[in-house]
Amino acid sequence: MNYYSLNHISPKVSFQEAVVLGLAPDRGLYFPESITPLPSSFFDNIENLSHEAIAFEAIKQFVGDEIPEAELKRIIAETLCFDFPCVPVEDNVYSLELFHGPTMAFKDVGARFMSRCLGYFNRHDDKKVTVLVATSGDTGGAVASGFLGVKGVEVIILYPSGKVSEIQERQLTTLGQNIKALEVDGVFDDCQDMVKRAFLDESLKHKNLTSANSINIARWLPQMFYIFFAYQQLKKYQKPLILSCPSGNFGNICAGIMAKRLGLPIAHFVASTNANDTVPRFLAKGQYEPKPSVATISNAMDVGNPSNFIRIQELYHNDLKQFEKDFSSYSFTDAETEAAMQDIFKRTQYIAEPHGAVGYLGLKKEMQKQSNSVGVFLETAHPIKFLDIVEPLLNLKLPIPEQIESVLHKEKVSTKIKTYEDLKNYLD
Ligand SMILES: *Cc1c(COP(=O)(O)O)cnc(C)c1O
Repeated sequence: MNYYSLNHISPKVSFQEAVVLGLAPDRGLYFPESITPLPSSFFDNIENLSHEAIAFEAIKQFVGDEIPEAELKRIIAETLCFDFPCVPVEDNVYSLELFHGPTMAFKDVGARFMSRCLGYFNRHDDKKVTVLVATSGDTGGAVASGFLGVKGVEVIILYPSGKVSEIQERQLTTLGQNIKALEVDGVFDDCQDMVKRAFLDESLKHKNLTSANSINIARWLPQMFYIFFAYQQLKKYQKPLILSCPSGNFGNICAGIMAKRLGLPIAHFVASTNANDTVPRFLAKGQYEPKPSVATISNAMDVGNPSNFIRIQELYHNDLKQFEKDFSSYSFTDAETEAAMQDIFKRTQYIAEPHGAVGYLGLKKEMQKQSNSVGVFLETAHPIKFLDIVEPLLNLKLPIPEQIESVLHKEKVSTKIKTYEDLKNYLD
């Protein structure tokens, strides 16, 4: 399968090149040249298939012959080593829990898949790559865990000193081996700026730098898998399915739309956002006006200019009318999010963390318009990852899951840096 750049200047590349490069040389995101729907027999029979079999069917056309079938199946099996339950929250409302993986956030899926693809491409150990990633919290932990021990790949994670939670810091700084943590004297935007500069820096070309966020197709496309798993579990209700994604860079929702293009029967998409409402404003006004991000309690979604939105526009060929038929987007304040968390807990005993609660709110809003549907929101992280917010608000103490416990006692190792020159020196 070939991929083209959405800036349309750089040449088309193979799956492997797109994964290794991350972003096209013209700074555009890569997009698959074709999308072929799966046969209807696949969906008729989906409840009888394993997660691995579903994932293989969903991804194989996007990989093509660049990874042999047996290898791709192994990569998928290693990626999907945990559960994706749809948990009933209230009548016709389900939470798709994406947090049962090693770092308890959905990013485990994409990070594990991408790392293993790079590992395969490096099987002869001839082309070392360096994954450079800035994190405000969740991405770093998933990337650290997902890439640990992968041959030929060095991972360098930049995070803002003192601005991530203790659990998040432990997840990035305690693993060792090929995972290095750089503690930046600054805020997340400083980390992000340094990473962007490094990607453009000709003098670092020999390092084969690549990204591990959802701009990379090998992080983004496997996010389709669990949308298929949601349908597999909810199909039996035989009602139109509404999917609500708590959205930051819009990777999940864009993967959901891709799944629909493969034939997955999703009736409607809801992109639920916090106060960072660039897309809801776009739908209301027809104009895309990104803004600097503002801080909220659902901080993994504090994104002012969602990077995957351009892929969604490509999927709809900028046809706003069709887009609005399939897609809604709503924004919620922190106060609304906190009230929802309390309300859900009081009525149902379900513990939602702030990102999931934003997803829940968007789903409920859409379901008022479309009764007789069944709705699912993504619960993108385990409540323990946001315990500072969840515990006082719901007045409870969360037990510490084993995955988290195991990093809390390990020793933190990080290198402090302040400037871009420091980063360059470190890389060289
Ligand atoms: C990254 C993240 C999101 C946002 O997902 P996108 O695919 O970028 O929209 C939501 N919730 C949590 C917990 C995250 O870590």
